[in-house]
Amino acid sequence: MISPEGVAVEDVEASDPTASAATHVLRKIFGYDSFREGQQEIIEHVVTGGDALVLMPTGGGKSLCYQIPALVRDGVGVVISPLIALMQDQVDALTALGVRAGFLNSTQGIDERQAVEACFVAGEIDLLYLAPERLRVDATLRLLERGKISLFAIDEAHCVAQWGHDFRPDYLALSTLHERWPSVPRVALTATATPATHAEIAARLNLENARHFVASFDRPNIEYRISPKNEPRRQLLDLLRNEHPGDAGIVYCLSRASVDKIAEFLTQNNIPALPYHAGLDARTRAANQARFLREDGLVMVATIAFGMGIDKPDVRFVAHLDLPKSVEGYYQETGRAGRDGQPSTAWLAYGLQDVVQQRRMIETSEGDDTHRRRLGTHLDAMLALCETIDCRRVRLLDYFGQKSSPCGNCDTCKTPPESWDGTIPAQKLLSTVLRLHRERRQKFGAGQIVDILLGRKTDKVLQHDHASLTVFGIGTELRESEWRGVIRQLLAQGLLTVEGDYGTLILTDASADVLRGNHQVLLRREPERKPSRSSSKSDPKTPTTRLQASDLSETAQAIFENLRTWRGATAKEQGLPAYIIFHDATLREIATRTPTTLTELGQISGIGENKLAKYGQQVLDVLHPPQSDQTTELAESD
Ligand code: ADP
Ligand code: ZN
Repeated sequence: MISPEGVAVEDVEASDPTASAATHVLRKIFGYDSFREGQQEIIEHVVTGGDALVLMPTGGGKSLCYQIPALVRDGVGVVISPLIALMQDQVDALTALGVRAGFLNSTQGIDERQAVEACFVAGEIDLLYLAPERLRVDATLRLLERGKISLFAIDEAHCVAQWGHDFRPDYLALSTLHERWPSVPRVALTATATPATHAEIAARLNLENARHFVASFDRPNIEYRISPKNEPRRQLLDLLRNEHPGDAGIVYCLSRASVDKIAEFLTQNNIPALPYHAGLDARTRAANQARFLREDGLVMVATIAFGMGIDKPDVRFVAHLDLPKSVEGYYQETGRAGRDGQPSTAWLAYGLQDVVQQRRMIETSEGDDTHRRRLGTHLDAMLALCETIDCRRVRLLDYFGQKSSPCGNCDTCKTPPESWDGTIPAQKLLSTVLRLHRERRQKFGAGQIVDILLGRKTDKVLQHDHASLTVFGIGTELRESEWRGVIRQLLAQGLLTVEGDYGTLILTDASADVLRGNHQVLLRREPERKPSRSSSKSDPKTPTTRLQASDLSETAQAIFENLRTWRGATAKEQGLPAYIIFHDATLREIATRTPTTLTELGQISGIGENKLAKYGQQVLDVLHPPQSDQTTELAESD
């Protein structure tokens, strides 16, 4: 067992006398050269005993913000995390770095729990992970009194906010930590931070007087794309085959049934995929999650039950086949792509049916009016993002209260959509809805309204003699898909709404202004999507061609593949996710620089002292296969 604090002082003097203890831990334990934006300030503040509220996007590097202070400060860092299923991996990842850590949650047997408790009391670990519900148990509080706590880290702190999308009642109890341990610093962290959630976290956790650190929420390596949903399955398949062959990714669906169907569909099309939703038994869920984390190139098809805290760094795409309920949720989910900073895709397919369905769900949802209004506000913001003709990222960041300029890495930047004056079609449509209601006392869903506008004599239309309506056939200037687009956008703009179980269309207060000609309706015309850069490069006949995120030479690519094979075998042998051993980015750097000695290898980002000792020689052997005993000896003498 190592003692980072002890080593720190010694080596700081030997290497760089100006480096702080925190920098030293960063280099020695984690193997990173420098801090990312914001990390150093936060860490120094917490090391000196300050409270902090940290808002940083997924992949921004929040973990180090409490792990390093816990290593530098005296005592055990207590991390409150709702992610029971991931605690083992979190502890494994720390153990691989040579950091002593443990967890306490309901999945443990009594022996294991007692062993961890003893380590905590004796100060033999540096980090202890706890599920929030543990703190409701008196025994846990008594246990915590018996040890020395260096800090409290409250991970996924947005779970305390009712305004947000992940509220967990157990989090409310965390406000008492401060009363019981007034001198222990607290650091609360979240990747979800609209101004409303931010304020609520601060208030509920009594962190108003803490220092608030708000990082940029931009994730420049993620390309954001929102497409009209035509044939979702084919669209998804195109995305995976043309742009992400062999890549790991997540596909989000709204319902359990569609999760199962899409997972099966992908598997049938030779794309390895697994389902994940709350309807599967706990064991299957855990097994699928473990496979996704451990194996390379799996696609997880899931409801939003999946993903919080998944820190797999090489998720290359997140696809949404249904409209997310809020921008906060959408950003959180898409943020799971590309934590390693390499190019990644966030793709959403969205159509008329999504709007109808979500409006209906809100209308029929349990809870009071305030609750429904809140859901409605969330949905409106999401729809505005979908229908915007401006840069998606500018919109997203604006939602989190941050100003930015067009990014060049989203669909609207790459192929700017045109807007067109849709006032007349909107009037035709709204008056059809109005007439049907007034003259026939009938309300219809989108399908029949479009049939009437196009003058289609379907059974339903004839049955009610709608062919005699004055509006019958007045809309032949647009195609069916275009009419559906008009309806979708009117719904999004609140100029039309839906009610009832069948999603019938009805007018809103704002519709009248359009009908009277007092409101101009601007609509978005989706451009035909040009083949993307990457899809034109790839050969559709060989879906296994890997498109590399960073360009490696042919030689380096071959070495990289060898290293991945070695990593895969090692991970399997040790029962660890491959990325806990080394990240892709680290393997790429090794493949490019081909170090010949352990010292050279140790300079590569992501290789700390412990991993160098544990895997260094094996990596050198992969790079330079030993031919005889003599070569081995030479390598060892470095
Ligand atoms: P978050 O919790 O904010 O989503 P993590 O703490 O999981 O982010 O960090 C994201 C990734 O970035 C991790 O793989 C982590 O090892 C890496 N990382 C964090 N800080 C640094 C750094 N200073 N230098 C290099 N990589 C870093
Ligand atoms: Zn953009």
